[in-house]
Amino acid sequence: MPQDMMIVRIWREALKNYALGLLINTTAVLAITYILSGGPSRFVQTWSACALLLMLIRFLQFMYAARRYRQTRTFFPVDKVCLSLGLLLAGTLWAGLGWWGIAHYQGTQQFAIIVILSSLAGGATGTLSALRIVGKAYILLLLLPACVRLYQTGIPFFVTLSLLGVVFTGVMLFSHQNNYKLVRRSVRLMLSNKELVDEVSTLADELKHENNALEARVEERGNDLLRLAYHDELTGLLNRHGVSNLVKYFGIMPGNVTVFFVNLDRFKQINDSMGHAAGDDVLRQIAQRLDGLASRLSRDIFSNVDCQVGRWGGDEFVFYLSQLGEDSLPPEDVGQLIRSEIGNRMKVAGKIIYIDASIGAVSERDCDNPNNLFQYADIAAGEAKRTGRVVLFNPAIREQLTRKSILAQDLRMAIANRQLSIATQPIVSAVDHQTVSFEVLMRWTHPEFGPISPEEFIPVAEETGIIVELGDWVIEQAIAASAGLLLPGRDARAKVAVNVSLHQLLQEDFVDKLLKVSRDGFAAENLIIELTESVFHENEIEMVKQVLFRIKNLGMEIHIDDFGTGYSSFSRICELPIDAIKIDKAFIQSSDEKNITIIEAVVFIAQRLKIRVIAEGIETLQQAERMQALGVNELQGYFFGQPVSTPVPAHAS
Ligand code: C2E
Ligand code: CA
Ligand code: CA
Repeated sequence: MPQDMMIVRIWREALKNYALGLLINTTAVLAITYILSGGPSRFVQTWSACALLLMLIRFLQFMYAARRYRQTRTFFPVDKVCLSLGLLLAGTLWAGLGWWGIAHYQGTQQFAIIVILSSLAGGATGTLSALRIVGKAYILLLLLPACVRLYQTGIPFFVTLSLLGVVFTGVMLFSHQNNYKLVRRSVRLMLSNKELVDEVSTLADELKHENNALEARVEERGNDLLRLAYHDELTGLLNRHGVSNLVKYFGIMPGNVTVFFVNLDRFKQINDSMGHAAGDDVLRQIAQRLDGLASRLSRDIFSNVDCQVGRWGGDEFVFYLSQLGEDSLPPEDVGQLIRSEIGNRMKVAGKIIYIDASIGAVSERDCDNPNNLFQYADIAAGEAKRTGRVVLFNPAIREQLTRKSILAQDLRMAIANRQLSIATQPIVSAVDHQTVSFEVLMRWTHPEFGPISPEEFIPVAEETGIIVELGDWVIEQAIAASAGLLLPGRDARAKVAVNVSLHQLLQEDFVDKLLKVSRDGFAAENLIIELTESVFHENEIEMVKQVLFRIKNLGMEIHIDDFGTGYSSFSRICELPIDAIKIDKAFIQSSDEKNITIIEAVVFIAQRLKIRVIAEGIETLQQAERMQALGVNELQGYFFGQPVSTPVPAHAS
């Protein structure tokens, strides 16, 4: 505890009592003046005038010192000296009264002086208790001169009184000292209390500070978690959770809400060929473009539009559009805007690439429940992938979906319920138009919907995996039917070509099944496996290669179907044991001369590779002649024969 602080506090205590002391002093001066006024000399008047003047000066001094203390919270030495001096002077005046008064007054007046001096000394033990030396000097000044004077009278009573006075003085000094100690102790206690309070409040402040910092950290962490929970780390866009929430809160708001589902085309190829870092870069750039478009639409172009963008996952983005008022943007136009924004040239890993997207949209008006918005938009995007246009979800699509799910369901029982059959279509030599083989095509007659095109049910079968069962069934049927499919003019079995899907090909026991078929008396070389270009898919190529070589070893032929519509390349074809390629009918039927050039090139390369070329979709003699002129080996199409229902011998089915 600092000593200065103690002194200041003790002086403050002294100052507190100073005014009271002055008041008592002034009262005593007035009282004694009154009592002694009828006395023998003018001494009292002079003394009283000096005393009152001194009281006034001391009062002014007190006021000044008190003000200075209030302002500075400290006591200046000059103030301390002046206050002490004022007290000692007052004591001296009282000493003068005792010295002179005891000798010059008698009886009651003499006693009045003694009583007043004793009372003042008694009072001083309390009021001056804070002033250790000055207080005691004041008491001594008050009592000692009077005692000496009493003693000097020699009168035994006064001598006794004087001795009593000395004892009384001693008691007063003792009690003053005790009071002084008390003051000191209480000040010390007060100060240590204050120190404690200060310490506690500092601690409380520190605690509060820590607490605030902790709260801020918790809030920051909470925000981080919230951001992570609702945002996609790679692109910074809202994630699936964030977008779903958006619809939860805004999807039911007034205004017309349209959700666009954006599915990047061939993104997997980019990932596979350029690496995942490049794939990430593409996603980031697409995110930026969509975000830029969203803010341009909502900020710069249309004030009544609100757009949000999110990443649904993988290569799928969601574009959320909410429009107020009648004058709204047609969703097809917005879809096109999104598509062209994505379609702009893009630089990735130092290369320029172009990306397309399949975009499906659904308007809130066409959606029974806001929770289905994304599902329907996704469905529309799936449709867009097939059609290559921006597709707006409508009830017809929903009906199609319902039909699709019914078909998927019913297809499971189609074999058992004998609803499936096969049709065969001849494939002829381009030179003499003699049949060389038959393609076997699956047919399904649904009890409710009637005949269903394979274009419709084969994709459903592939999606649901039923294609494996159906495919096996077709191979069995094809082989059984082949007994009746004789080559014209010869008593030999015709070759049969069956369509095999990738899913089926990748079944572990697929080759074993083929092996079994050829052991059952059917010549393996009479079976042609038609595969679409999906078999060239990077991911499965090694596996496909193995299977194809095993099939080839069995003696069967392998043809690539729908050539030109997928990703096949001649370099891939070189690696695989391919016997023929079947150019897609779109090339044959097109009137575009460019397609003829393509066919020419294909034939040229195929001849070098010793691979036969088949043209499908021949509907006219002109087409047939042209293909022959181009060097195509075999032809297939309505011109030579439509697919006809082919019965299977009873024992074989
Ligand atoms: P695809 O393998 O390309 O079969 C040829 C399709 O073209 C057949 O349609 C056939 O009827 C049709 N076509 C033949 N000649 C002509 C023509 O001159 N003009 C026109 N416009 N079309 C012609 P289909 O039978 O409707 O089969 C469609 C597709 O369904 C097939 O295309 C094939 O990809 C698939 N498919 C059919 N049966 C099977 C099967 O058993 N297994 C698998 N995996 N797919 C099958
Ligand atoms: Ca085919
Ligand atoms: Ca084909």
